[in-house]
Amino acid sequence: MQAKCPLCNRIDRISDDDPLAKKLRNRPIHTYTCTECYDRISRKAKSRRGEKQS
Ligand SMILES: [Zn+2]
Repeated sequence: MQAKCPLCNRIDRISDDDPLAKKLRNRPIHTYTCTECYDRISRKAKSRRGEKQS
């Protein structure tokens, strides 16, 4: 299946056997975030908590 990342509009291909694909089929597509944006968000979330990254 294809999943579109709403943050950078990138379309990723996910294997239908991937647990993530099953999750996305049961939820709105906009819950998908590509790995790049996911990293960015989690880094931001960390810095918000005061855990600075060099
Ligand atoms: Zn993205």
